[in-house]
Amino acid sequence: MSGVRLLLIGPPGAGKGTQAARLAEHFGIPAISTGDIFRENVKNQTELGTKVQSYMDAGENVPDSLTNDLIHDRIAQPDCADGFLLDGYPRTASQVDALEGMLAEQSASLDAAVELVADVEVVVNRLRQRAIDQGRSDDSEDVVRHRLGVYAEQTAPLVNVFRDRGLLVTVDGLGPIEEITGRILARLQAAGVAVS
Ligand code: AMP
Repeated sequence: MSGVRLLLIGPPGAGKGTQAARLAEHFGIPAISTGDIFRENVKNQTELGTKVQSYMDAGENVPDSLTNDLIHDRIAQPDCADGFLLDGYPRTASQVDALEGMLAEQSASLDAAVELVADVEVVVNRLRQRAIDQGRSDDSEDVVRHRLGVYAEQTAPLVNVFRDRGLLVTVDGLGPIEEITGRILARLQAAGVAVS
């Protein structure tokens, strides 16, 4: 299958990374997580890594210019020619505008924005467990609460933008992993995205 361009939106801990990997495999497209790319850069102490670390540790969004440049370069790579799935981008109104410009440059368009919905207390508990399992420095409880606040303020309103554009697919993010993937695929199909 070719040409599927998707994004996943939802609060930290909603299961975006897990579903992104499964959907990317299903569609045969790369899953692109800005958070993973930033973490890799921090780990390797690259120039970008040193610029973004303090924002990440504080649970703040990395500045739009750095994030947009990163995605601009990434989706221009050959493996994205037949589609891609964005996980955790765009997160701000200005990132939505930037993405639109990048897609226009490629004469491409977004097929759907998948919103994963999860209750605040559920995601806090999941992230508490992830802090134990993975030791992510931004999964401490106070930083998690801050990230949820940043999501509510800067990212959640974007759901309305995608709804207005007729691109929004909203899925309950609670339940067994396979079941959630099934729900997403069913909702995408209902929205006219070719899923098989
Ligand atoms: P995530 O892995 O998606 O939870 O992202 C972890 C952290 O990376 C966030 O708390 C931000 O500091 C940064 N980050 C990831 N994606 C973005 C984005 N699209 N815009 C700004 N900051 C981001």
